[in-house]
Parts: sequence; C-alpha cells; structure tokens
Amino acid sequence: MQRTGPRFLNLACLPAQVFMKAEAHPAFMHGPRLRRALTSVPPLPKDALEAAASVLASGHLFRYGEHAAEGTWVARLERAFAEHLGARFAVAVNSGGSAIHLAMRSLGLGQGDVVAMNAFTLAPVPGAVEHLGATVALVDIDEDLRCDLDDLKRCFVEQRPKAFLLSHMRGHVADMDAIVAMCTAHDVALIEDCAHTLGATYDGKPTGRFGIAGCFSLQTWKQINAGEGGILVTDDEDLAARAILASGAYMLHAQHGTPPSEDVVQRWAASTPNLSMRLNEVAAAVALPQLATLEERNARWRTIHDRFAAGLANLPDLRLPVTLPKVLPAPTSLQFVADLPAEVLQEKLDACAERGVPIKWFGRPTPLGFTSVHRHWGYVPTRPLPKGDAVLAGLCDVRLPGDLSDEDVDTIVAVVRLAFGH
Ligand SMILES: *Cc1c(COP(=O)(O)O)cnc(C)c1O
Repeated sequence: MQRTGPRFLNLACLPAQVFMKAEAHPAFMHGPRLRRALTSVPPLPKDALEAAASVLASGHLFRYGEHAAEGTWVARLERAFAEHLGARFAVAVNSGGSAIHLAMRSLGLGQGDVVAMNAFTLAPVPGAVEHLGATVALVDIDEDLRCDLDDLKRCFVEQRPKAFLLSHMRGHVADMDAIVAMCTAHDVALIEDCAHTLGATYDGKPTGRFGIAGCFSLQTWKQINAGEGGILVTDDEDLAARAILASGAYMLHAQHGTPPSEDVVQRWAASTPNLSMRLNEVAAAVALPQLATLEERNARWRTIHDRFAAGLANLPDLRLPVTLPKVLPAPTSLQFVADLPAEVLQEKLDACAERGVPIKWFGRPTPLGFTSVHRHWGYVPTRPLPKGDAVLAGLCDVRLPGDLSDEDVDTIVAVVRLAFGH
C-alpha cells in the first residue's frame, strides 16, 4: 500500500508539474496512488440480479399487463417508495428529469410561466423547465452551495415565479424552514429535486416531503442504480392522477402502486396527453431490492465522506462546504472549493488524475462529464451570479463509489494532500 511516508513529505515540496511526469520517473513510483477506478460502479446485489432475470424470463417487461394479479414490479416499487417517504402517492417514470417535468406539468405549469431554480444543479433540471415551455429564473447560491435566501426573496418579488424547483444538488440541503416559509408567503409551489438526497433528512423529515412534490432519480450514479428511472412522490391526488396519465397509463392507471381514486383520475383523463414516460419492469426489479438496503448503504457513504472530509482539514487553499446542523446528508460525492488561479488548480487536478484520483471541476471553461453550469445552458436566460460564480469557479467534485474501503479513502486523501499541500 502506498501510504504517506517520508517520500510523500518530500514530494509535497515539489512543484505540481513534477507530479504530472511522476509515472515516468522511477523516483516517484512510490507516492500514493489509487489502484481502483473512482468511475466504477459496484455490482448489483444478488437479489436484484435474480429479480431482473425473472422479469426477463417472463417476457413481461412492460409495466402494464392484463395478467397482473399480484401487481407488477413497478407498482411494488411505487408502494415501497411511498411508504419509505411517508407519501400518499408515488409515480414511477423513466428518468429523474421526467419526474421533475411531470411534477411541474401536473401543477398546470406551461408556456409563459416562470419557474425559479437554484443555479447549482444538473442539466436535466433546467431541461425539464425548457421541456415545459416555461422560463427559468436562476437563483444565486451561497458559499456552501445552498440556495441563497436573499436572492430567492428578490426572485419571488421581482419575477413572480409560479413554482420553485429546488435542487438539493450534490446533497447540499438548504434552510428548509426559511424556504417553506418564503414559498408559502409568496404563494409559490415548491418542488424538490432529490436526485442526490434519497435518504437525507432535514430536522428528521425526508427531503422530497417539504413541497407539493419530490422527485428522485434511479440513474446509475444515484443512491439506487436502475440504469434509468425516476420517481415522483406527492400527497396531492390531482397531481398524482395527472402525472400517472401523462406518464402514459393507457387506461391501466388502476395497476399503479398507489393510484388515486377513479373519480380523481377521470377528472383529468380526457385533457391529459400520453407522453410515454413509463418505467419498465426490469428497472423496477433492479431498484426495489436496493431500497431495502438504502439506510445501511447511506450510513457507509456518510463514513466514506466524513473520513475524506476530515483528511482534507488544514489544507491552505481548500474549503469544504458546511452542512446545516438540521441536515442528515446522504452523500455520494464530496465537494471542495479551491481558492486558486485556474491554471494552478488545473495542474493540481492533473496531478491527482495522474495518481488515479480524477476530480471534476465546475470552473472549467467548457463542461466535461456532468459538470456543466448555468452559462453553458444556452436555452436559459442567465446572468452573472454575484456569489455563485465565485464558488463555482473553484468548485471541485469527487465521486465516491459506495464500495470504497477506508484504505481507498486514505489513499485519495494522500493524493489530494500531495497535490494541494505546499
Ligand atoms: C441525476 C440528476 C437528476 C435527474 O437525472 P436523470 O438522468 O434524468 O435521472 C436531476 N437533478 C440532479 C441534480 C441530478 O444529479
């Protein structure tokens, strides 16, 4: 194992360019190096494989059927999700982006409406608003990557959005007491994007339960990996009925896991087009067993994150975003903000990559692998963000596969300290 030793201390005194050539130079072969891929995905659990195999063998890959006596996998997943989150309804769809789109659409939002959105998020979020024909009003973020409350208030007053699409991006949950109060006071519907917070809570309450709808993703890099998929949860029967119909229920809405009553569905049936955004049986069969182990996996993820964060303490140019005391996070990645000129930061990130630790950077002039920011979304009316742009310029992002060992984490820490230490 390559651990920090005398050689590590010597290397720390050398300029970053030296590390870029480290591989080639025998003198540096013994520095820290991560021997496993951070881009890898842990294998699916055995029960998920067996469930998927049984679906494939049956041939019933579509969520609806005329055979479904005991309910399909998708319906079971909907019931399990609703129960897990304490929601009346859960509607499974084909992606997290679809869940967000359908939540807004099922509130009656569309062309000409304004939707507020915190600027730190992933591209499917502004994409879901664009898909609606509505207009994004970007809200600034603060130095801890949370929605900036002063700018949110300004946005509510000046731009009068009908909805606030709050993205708990990378698991950084904002002050939900203040946000809920502000949405109520300004009559703005709150929709939560919980793609990174399945299992996270604020003041003991799960994220996704603070507004009219919560949206989750089952995409490979989230807490539950079904390849693709999304789930919308709500207590609102009209929103649930409209989302079910729009997702493409073919009059088979009664086969959903948590369907609203028939009269509610019929209220919307004739006026709701079929947008074909259904989840399929294989994805649900893969996802459901993972929900059962969510809490233990999240606990391990927290340990990985906190061990990593502790290891980065006292590095002069790095700052870790602060988590609010009321938040129990469910981190699947770690962010730090580097206060360094772009060229210097790029060199340090190159040095980490050379040692097996690829780190993403939101400050890149051109977006790369999941790290686009608002100025890259040409379809969104954007503007310079006084606080957020400064944070995003130095924002670094490390994915944390849930099967990292403590030793892996220590190696990652050693690599980052080697590159960023003076
Ligand atoms: C992954 C993700 C989504 C949804 O993505 P899909 O690929 O559509 O499932 C939404 N918001 C954030 C912040 C995400 O990371």
